[in-house]
Amino acid sequence: MTPPPRYRGRFAPSPTGPLHFGSLVAALGSWMMARRAGGEWWVRIEDVDRPREVPGAADRQLNTLAAFGMASDGPVLRQSQRGDLYQAALSGLLASGDAFPCRCSRSALAATGGIHRACVDAGDPARAPSVRLRVPDGVIGFEDELQGHFEQDVGRAVGDFVLWRADGLWAYQLAVVVDDADQGITHVVRGADLLDSTPRQILLQRRLGLPTPAHAHLPLVLGADGRKLGKSLQALPIDDDAPWPALRAAWRFLGQPDAALDAGGAPGPALERAATRFDPARIPVTDGNPDSGFAAAT
Ligand code: GLU
Repeated sequence: MTPPPRYRGRFAPSPTGPLHFGSLVAALGSWMMARRAGGEWWVRIEDVDRPREVPGAADRQLNTLAAFGMASDGPVLRQSQRGDLYQAALSGLLASGDAFPCRCSRSALAATGGIHRACVDAGDPARAPSVRLRVPDGVIGFEDELQGHFEQDVGRAVGDFVLWRADGLWAYQLAVVVDDADQGITHVVRGADLLDSTPRQILLQRRLGLPTPAHAHLPLVLGADGRKLGKSLQALPIDDDAPWPALRAAWRFLGQPDAALDAGGAPGPALERAATRFDPARIPVTDGNPDSGFAAAT
């Protein structure tokens, strides 16, 4: 039997459009953390939310990653092909009583701020149910490699959360947990917008008897208005034919000095060289704005 990897990271984009600068930062940050540790980096396409998928976006994202010198070390899985695994996990949770079908309507839950703690409404039996995880009282905490200690009372903050959606789609929280475990992911490095999903995922890992990977949540790229990367920045094209301006800006955004990156030439070998100089201690913890050089270069 092959021993489990010491470090296997991943980048898991949703194919809702071309990669934007914020996703490039997540890709580069997760790639650097993996390489620096001598580890693997796998790409997974998170296409569970079919209605939000843009046709052709996944292939375009993979082409961009390749042009930027980052190729998956393992098979590129697509969540749309993995329903059997999610179903097996869900069936186990239903059988153990950890999950339950729910027909509460949004309007009935509005009285509790949308947070489900107990069914408030028998619902219309003709309507398809969602399936929720029964969330116990108590706080779930973890040590984030970049953000430090983070904890959440999941029951109070989000309540019994959805695993299978009433509209017939798998929920992100279930798919990501099943896939990370099935793919042997040991380190999850991603944007800080997912920090508050992590306690839910840890809870699910415990219920499913799966290991919890290490976590590092990268600062978010903010628009000039200080809000999460706005549409205008999201729309900035990441140019596959000229990767260096964006790569250099992403490197700087991660707090790394220009001198540590031999920009120019083929990105793949340059990134491999830079990985030995990549220092996670330099990654800023607060969210920020990409430097103006990047905006000018694009
Ligand atoms: N698919 C998610 C996204 O594109 C990322 C999920 C994750 O890294 O856990 O935002």
